[in-house]
Amino acid sequence: MSKPHIIAIPFPAQGHVMPLMEFSQCLARHGFKVTFVNTEHIHKQIVNAISDESYIRHDHVHLVSIPDGLESQEERNGPRLLSEAIQAVMHQNLEDLIEKLNKEEGAKITCLIADESCGWALEVAQKLKIARVVAFWPAAAATLVLNFCIPKLIHEGIIEYDGTVLKSQMVQLAPKMPMIKSTNFVWACTGNSSTQKILFQFMERTTKNAKLVDWLVCNSTYEMEPTAFALEPQILPIGPLLASSRLGNSAGSLWPTDSTCLNWLDKKPPCSVIYVAFGSTTVFNQTQFQELALALELSNRPFLWVVRPDTSDNIPYPEGYHDRVGSNGLMVSWAPQQNVLAHPSIACFLSHCGWNSTMEGVSNGVPFLCWPYFADQFINESYICDVWEVGLGFDKNESGIITQGEIKNKIEHLLGDKDFKARASKLKEMAMTTVKEGGQSNKILKNLIEWIKS
Ligand code: UDP
Repeated sequence: MSKPHIIAIPFPAQGHVMPLMEFSQCLARHGFKVTFVNTEHIHKQIVNAISDESYIRHDHVHLVSIPDGLESQEERNGPRLLSEAIQAVMHQNLEDLIEKLNKEEGAKITCLIADESCGWALEVAQKLKIARVVAFWPAAAATLVLNFCIPKLIHEGIIEYDGTVLKSQMVQLAPKMPMIKSTNFVWACTGNSSTQKILFQFMERTTKNAKLVDWLVCNSTYEMEPTAFALEPQILPIGPLLASSRLGNSAGSLWPTDSTCLNWLDKKPPCSVIYVAFGSTTVFNQTQFQELALALELSNRPFLWVVRPDTSDNIPYPEGYHDRVGSNGLMVSWAPQQNVLAHPSIACFLSHCGWNSTMEGVSNGVPFLCWPYFADQFINESYICDVWEVGLGFDKNESGIITQGEIKNKIEHLLGDKDFKARASKLKEMAMTTVKEGGQSNKILKNLIEWIKS
């Protein structure tokens, strides 16, 4: 008998592709055939980044691609262009792909799993009458709950109908939920006002998508977000989803990983290294980049810093930096982050607080220094600092800069107070217990698997 066939569709961005790939690999290990559909643009990057060619040919997760509607050289970082192009063409492209697969011997699609942000994919599932439809939310449940609360925020006069923030105030939806400044709402802190409106409409649509699905699962745990899951019981946690082995050949990474940093970490004392990484999209201005560089030097501790080529190409390091830092600091363009965070020499994680980075740090019991930029990163920072108390945030000076002195002080504060590490270790234990036999996430995942197979 042929294996049940799942088609998985991520939103085309690193922080969405990676966790859905981990979910897909997990399903493949449970006996499913999984076809993973990227946009052509993302697919090319992933294939270029895979160091182990055999992955593409032999793994149970089959990588395929469809066009996203933009020319290959067109800019994809602006949410406007990409989301408009996606809406225009991907619907039909996906439909054609599924119909083609359905005609192949033993390849009929029995289940569609799409990122919750890909409403167009969920609509295709409905149109083609795919029997099992699952939405996957790769961020905190609290972020989705905030989207569900948009009508309430409008009713209370905090935001306008188009998402414009009317009152700058702290918002906490319930106890043990993150505290968030209204001006930092996901849609309100990203881009200019027309981008913000597009993003707001996009957020509103995600709540409608929730009605099209049989299951809505989230890469989180009950233990980390009890109130968020209680507020929206439809959302079910299956996290933390982590790669079983990531040594350099993770199919989901958009850049080749530099695993030599693991050998460098082997030579450092336990709990000594500051790991610094800002995910896949964050960029720096020159002043801020140099302040961070000098702070790491000043800290007088070993550090591993991910400096993506697109961040550093036009920004110089401070003069003589590499000579002064010597073997105390290592800069890499893309690290095997999960392996790095699991390494015993890591002391703390200076992070932009993307949700995947947050889950990966938590799963390894690593305390955080939080440097959020936009989107859901402020919600995640509040979880880390205010709710779980496993990290510290930074204060900006009057020019909006986080100074080298501030960074150095917070590093010393975090590493000088053993309670942060103790709480992080406890949170890790909770996160790991939930995915083991008998744990909540484990039970939900098993039920989901049985339902897809049934
Ligand atoms: N990541 C990685 N190597 C790096 C930096 C990041 O593999 O050097 C991975 C990280 O493990 C995470 C993802 O990239 O899974 C980033 O996702 P996140 O949600 O943290 O941030 P985003 O890129 O979406 O802002």
